[in-house]
Amino acid sequence: MVRFDGQARQAYRPLGGWVDKLDDPQPELEGDVSADVVVVGAGFAGLSTALELAARGAKVIVLEREFAGFGASGRNAGYLAGGQGLEYDLFLKRVGREQAKHIVGFYDEGVDYVERKLGEYGIDCDYNASGIIRAGVHPSQEKKLRESMHTGIELGSAGEFLDQAAMRARGIPPAFLFSCYVPTGGTLDPGKYVMGLRRAALRAGVRLCENTAVQSWDEGATVRVRTARGSASAPFVVLATNAYTPQLGLLRNKVMPLRVSALETEPLSATQLASLGWPRREGIVTSHWTMESHRLTARNTLVLTTKRLRYVYGSQTPNVPDEASYRALAKALHERFPMLGAVAIRSCWSGYISFAYDALPVVGEAGAQRNILYTAGCSGHGVGTQSLMGLLLAERIGGAEHPLLSALRHKTPSTLPEPLQWCAVNSALGVANMLDERVNRKARDAALQ
Ligand SMILES: Cc1cc2nc3c(=O)[nH]c(=O)nc-3n(C[C@H](O)[C@H](O)[C@H](O)COP(=O)(O)OP(=O)(O)OC[C@H]3O[C@@H](n4cnc5c(N)ncnc54)[C@H](O)[C@@H]3O)c2cc1C
Repeated sequence: MVRFDGQARQAYRPLGGWVDKLDDPQPELEGDVSADVVVVGAGFAGLSTALELAARGAKVIVLEREFAGFGASGRNAGYLAGGQGLEYDLFLKRVGREQAKHIVGFYDEGVDYVERKLGEYGIDCDYNASGIIRAGVHPSQEKKLRESMHTGIELGSAGEFLDQAAMRARGIPPAFLFSCYVPTGGTLDPGKYVMGLRRAALRAGVRLCENTAVQSWDEGATVRVRTARGSASAPFVVLATNAYTPQLGLLRNKVMPLRVSALETEPLSATQLASLGWPRREGIVTSHWTMESHRLTARNTLVLTTKRLRYVYGSQTPNVPDEASYRALAKALHERFPMLGAVAIRSCWSGYISFAYDALPVVGEAGAQRNILYTAGCSGHGVGTQSLMGLLLAERIGGAEHPLLSALRHKTPSTLPEPLQWCAVNSALGVANMLDERVNRKARDAALQ
């Protein structure tokens, strides 16, 4: 059995399982300063933008409310994944096949971009270029998985169907019956990645102000961003605040934050690891309506995420435990890996992604001068995409529109006003949970036969 209930409170880590409070917090902004570009938010998007701009000789200030990596970038599952397995149904008809191909190309390019940058910035984040397995746990999932894989291939993203025999030959744990194997990408330690970006940015001369919340801004040819103890002015501002952007008064009707939770076991023993097989340690995601993700880490723990998503009324993002989600993840751990026996939980945590109703990135410009740039909405696919966004935004600021940025421009559907949004989103998530539970019940029954 998985021991969990008694540990739930003890295991909760408000900053996530990958990062700790910093030894070298950068000083809060005090007084009035100016730069070529002010970036707000120090996750993958903000830090990558700052690095790309610094490489082009720009003077950059990054303002971060907490510390670099506090948001989703320091809390995610670490899958560096491309365009295979996206929520095609939500956007294909809206944008059309041609634009969809370019959008999928953007996701795939995100993988290459991060791989390149890890080398360029000298970041060791335990990257395992294993590819990714999108698996089914019951035969009833095969049709949908195959259809999605074929759509992905038609849109230009590689994928290969692995049947039961191929899965067993690969040593994938037996709960995962068949899959779409994606040969590109893999898993990394997102805490080490984001801290590597932070170090690279400081090295490149970026001024990072932590513990510095942006409260408001004044528009104009020069934008003045206000904080509690000062202000930063620049001809361009980049809002890289992702799920927190609606709280700043922007994109309120375009994206909503969704809470995603994670659970990590204590390091597995040599016997437990041997019982898993899984020699290449591919990151596994499932084809549930709300997917499960299962991966091994370099410290030999298992990290599970997603499974249950939550929307908090009014697009709020409280940094609180989500015990029901942790219990659901613990149950999934037991069901997918019964061979492990008792596994202690090292940590559990939650974070926020931002989601547009068409599941696509939301990137563009605001303000009368179109000099307030924003990026959000990469949903649960931000490791590659929000990193690559740094290049696209830096080029846009430099006066050139990257073709991938043009490809991402589209009309994002408007979100619903409250309380409709709360009702609609939580009802949809409830139905997804119900459908997923039905599949899980069937998988349990099949395992007992
Ligand atoms: C549990 C979980 C699992 C995930 N798994 C994966 C995965 O395996 N693969 C994948 O590709 N994606 C995954 N994601 C999504 C991915 O982590 C995000 O898409 C990505 O990290 C977003 O990066 P970002 O820089 O845009 O935003 P964030 O990392 O959220 O950064 C935004 C920053 O803005 C700061 N901020 C907010 N408001 C202000 C303000 N007023 N002033 C100053 N600063 C402010 C925040 O403190 C934060 O540091 C997951 C997310 C979660 C939560």
